[in-house]
Order: sequence, then structure tokens, then C-alpha cells
Amino acid sequence: MAKEITAVEIPAHLRPVLQAAAKNMLQHLYGPEGPAWGTRFAEMEQLVKQLSNYLGTELLQQALQRQASQPVPEPLRCCPGCGRPTQPRDPEPRSVQTDRGTADWQEPASHCEYCRKAFFPSVQEPGH
Ligand SMILES: [Zn+2]
Repeated sequence: MAKEITAVEIPAHLRPVLQAAAKNMLQHLYGPEGPAWGTRFAEMEQLVKQLSNYLGTELLQQALQRQASQPVPEPLRCCPGCGRPTQPRDPEPRSVQTDRGTADWQEPASHCEYCRKAFFPSVQEPGH
């Protein structure tokens, strides 16, 4: 079965930000004149795909790291298995494979002494 793709509307206030980022990227890639005549479309398209994948993964990684840097809210400090308070642990490296690349970040961990399981607040399931 084909993977269903959900269209996401880009909020209007973000469009100028994305356009400015694209303009800046273009400047760094090709200089003020843009790509020289003769630059193959396929070559530009491949480069844009790679840059889009990198940008998407970087956005996700930075978002996850910023989220993980916030204090963990009270409801997420309880064990999802038994509901008892968990013991905080030092942040641990997390890594998630996306369809655009791998996102790596550090996330605070917690441990339920009763269930003898470790948890991450972003994933309310035991283990990692
Ligand atoms: Zn528990």
C-alpha cells in the first residue's frame, strides 16, 4: 500500500522566512548571479533534494533538543506503566531514523524502581 502523504499548509508568517533562507542558500551555492548557463536541471534538483533532507533533519533535531532542554512536566514524570513517580536520570543520547535522515539529541531519562524500566518523556513506553 502506498504511503499516504498529508499536505501541510505552511503558515503565512513562515513563508517570508523560508524565502529568505532559500535566497541566502542560493547565494552561498551559486553566488549573486545564480547557476551558470549550462548547469543541468537534474544536478540542481539532486542538490535541492539533499539540502531539503538535511534542513528537515536539522530542524527536527534542533526542535527535539530544545524540547528536551525544558523541564519535564509533572504528568510525564510518572511511570506510564504503573503511574508511580519515576527517578530522574542523566540525559541519554537519542537517535531516530526519519525518511529524510537521522535525528540525534540528548534527552532526560527517568527510571521506575517498581517496574524496573527506563523511560523517556517524549516516548511514553519503556526502554529506548
Ligand atoms: Zn512503573
